[in-house]
Amino acid sequence: MKIVFATNNLNKLKEVKALLPSIEIVSLQDIGCLEDIPETAKTLEGNAKIKADYVTEKFGYNCFADDTGLEVEALNAAPGVYSARYAGEPANSEKNMHKLLTELEFKDNRNAQFRTVIALNFNKKQFLFEGVCEGEILTEKYGKKGFGYDPIFSPSGFKTSFAEMTMTEKGVVSHRGKAIQKLIAFLSTYKY
Ligand code: IMP
Repeated sequence: MKIVFATNNLNKLKEVKALLPSIEIVSLQDIGCLEDIPETAKTLEGNAKIKADYVTEKFGYNCFADDTGLEVEALNAAPGVYSARYAGEPANSEKNMHKLLTELEFKDNRNAQFRTVIALNFNKKQFLFEGVCEGEILTEKYGKKGFGYDPIFSPSGFKTSFAEMTMTEKGVVSHRGKAIQKLIAFLSTYKY
């Protein structure tokens, strides 16, 4: 079975392909969708739906799309849906991390969570899956792996940052990993 994962982020594509080896996952580039799909919603759910619907309506494929936000307790769940461009345009992970570390400099509460919402358009119906990974924002950057806020996020129960973990280790506890596990459980109930 072939499903489009509506992303241009090669890191995410790699992570998701590793978690779903039994399904042929193709990217936006693979189907010739080269345009930037606008993410104009104010919620993660809204943006995931926009991206999945765009592909299904325009290209006719079964498709899933994800949207992720980093929700920081002391900042009233910011940057949330605006995580990619927290420090402004163009999106830049180094600047985003710097801004977040500065915002939290004098705060004791460093609790945060990554939340992923996946919207799946499958055989003309839409399904939503959510994955949450709780943890804390570190006081400086650790590690070189991963992407985004990985160097400053440590998942609960671990002494390392996401950027110090292998992709497989991260996938077991991560927000996206958990949402994908729900997607897999759902897809495995279907006979192809
Ligand atoms: P997206 O909308 O799913 O691409 O996620 C929005 C932003 O959240 C990304 O640009 C990253 O900065 C951040 N992000 C998403 N997933 C992760 C992750 O697994 N680790 C670190 N940062 C992430």
